[in-house]
Amino acid sequence: MADVAVVGAGPNGLAAAVVMARAGLDVQLYEAADAIGGGSRTSELIEPGYLYDVCSAVHPMALASPFFRAFELSQRIDLRVPEVQHGTPLDSGGAALAYQSLERTVLGLGVDGPAYRRLLGPLLERVDGVVDFTSNQLLRVPKDPLAAVLFGLATLDQGTPIWNRRFQEEAAPALLTGVMSHALGSQPSLSSTGAGLMLSVLAHARGWAIPVGGSMSIATAMADDLIAHGGSIRVGERVDSLDQVRPAKAILLDVAPPTLANLGGREVPDRYRRALEAFRFGNAACKVDFILSAPVPWLNPGLAKAGTVHVGGSRLAMAESENLVDMGKHPTEPYVLVSQPSVVDPTRAPEGRHVLWSYCHVPANSTVDMAEAVTARIERYAPGFRDVVVASKTTTAAQLSAYNENYVGGDFSAGLLDLRGLVQRPVVSNNPWRTPMPGVYLCSSSTPPGPGVTGMPGYHAAKHALKDIFKMRVPGLGLGL
Ligand SMILES: Cc1cc2nc3c(=O)[nH]c(=O)nc-3n(C[C@H](O)[C@H](O)[C@H](O)COP(=O)(O)OP(=O)(O)OC[C@H]3O[C@@H](n4cnc5c(N)ncnc54)[C@H](O)[C@@H]3O)c2cc1C
Repeated sequence: MADVAVVGAGPNGLAAAVVMARAGLDVQLYEAADAIGGGSRTSELIEPGYLYDVCSAVHPMALASPFFRAFELSQRIDLRVPEVQHGTPLDSGGAALAYQSLERTVLGLGVDGPAYRRLLGPLLERVDGVVDFTSNQLLRVPKDPLAAVLFGLATLDQGTPIWNRRFQEEAAPALLTGVMSHALGSQPSLSSTGAGLMLSVLAHARGWAIPVGGSMSIATAMADDLIAHGGSIRVGERVDSLDQVRPAKAILLDVAPPTLANLGGREVPDRYRRALEAFRFGNAACKVDFILSAPVPWLNPGLAKAGTVHVGGSRLAMAESENLVDMGKHPTEPYVLVSQPSVVDPTRAPEGRHVLWSYCHVPANSTVDMAEAVTARIERYAPGFRDVVVASKTTTAAQLSAYNENYVGGDFSAGLLDLRGLVQRPVVSNNPWRTPMPGVYLCSSSTPPGPGVTGMPGYHAAKHALKDIFKMRVPGLGLGL
């Protein structure tokens, strides 16, 4: 039996497995689905020859996460950064566009450009401190306290009802709210603003990368490294009890908190079990994938170069849509997150064709097909869109939940993202990855720093398991080692 068992081959399970195998330990990774990757899988969802990212598509952390940087991900796979990182079409027919260059972005934002610079510029200057602060749990002294203070002040500025104070026009606030709305929750709020500011800073600092071939290539790079260092992977093998993977000395679980409560059985102390069972999940996504016969005919040509487009109109309109979801309703005019991988990756579709990835937020467990609402929303800013749609496929929130058991009710953040949900993930502790069961660690995105393909929850859990059980430090993770 292996020294280390890792349950779940999502990005965090894979990251944990890589760290443990690099330390020279014998690692066995178990995955319930027939393929590795979790939320980082690519497949031919609609027709052969068309590659879709089933969940994650755009990777702001691929070039920024401390784990991926140590792992030298950018040297293992082809990560491409589009000319326009993200954009938001406006009702006027114009668009707010975020380039990697802050100054180029500021120039396009007219009278509000300087206010946008004053908000993000200081954070950009201390980007390593911002990444350190947001890649860890909040209950710790940050490496760069000034970066954390500046980040906190900017979050207060944009996450409270004074959020429009610094702006006069529509473009800059719409650009920011498009990004803040990645995080499920009401607007304005401190938690979605924190997530949005971090992503906005990364757009300018490193770019929002799109992997050639799809998000699966990130998972495959980690799996290849694991196998090269002696680890092995069993797919199609669901773990239902800790005894199934014993006598491994360390067990790292890329699972949802209620699953941990089940897996642990009687070993789970009552108080901890209650916390796991009461863990709060949030709302969900309804995904709509398209095959297109031509690129989206955006009214504003700048959007044709954007890797990601946030379709939702003004800041107020996006906030209204997100607040409806927060109240358990389906918006008729939803905020839609669109990824256009063809902008940088010609391998996704046969020549002359394109894939388009999109989703909108919906209440938890929703079975509603939002394809028509999403299509109408895109058509509003890209007249003629319907004419280029060849086929589409919807994945409802309920189907997402069935696809990956970590997305309880379709919550792809693996836990509510309000302020409490950021600190209590899944418990309030200075080491939330370590469980009260000796040798058992939780490494999914239900632990800090939370959702996204970052590898960081897996990295943190593995770091503590190495130290506690094997008295080892994190080994080198780069290519030359
Ligand atoms: C529609 C959608 C869009 C997204 N877009 C983005 C994006 O563009 N960029 C981004 O960075 N993030 C995005 N995300 C979020 C991202 O995919 C997740 O935050 C990330 O995948 C979480 O990684 P994880 O390893 O914690 O869990 P997961 O990726 O969910 O993987 C968990 C794995 O564990 C397995 N598992 C669970 N229980 C067991 C068990 N008992 N036995 C064996 N195996 C088990 C599951 O089958 C799964 O494969 C998106 C998610 C969704 C759903």
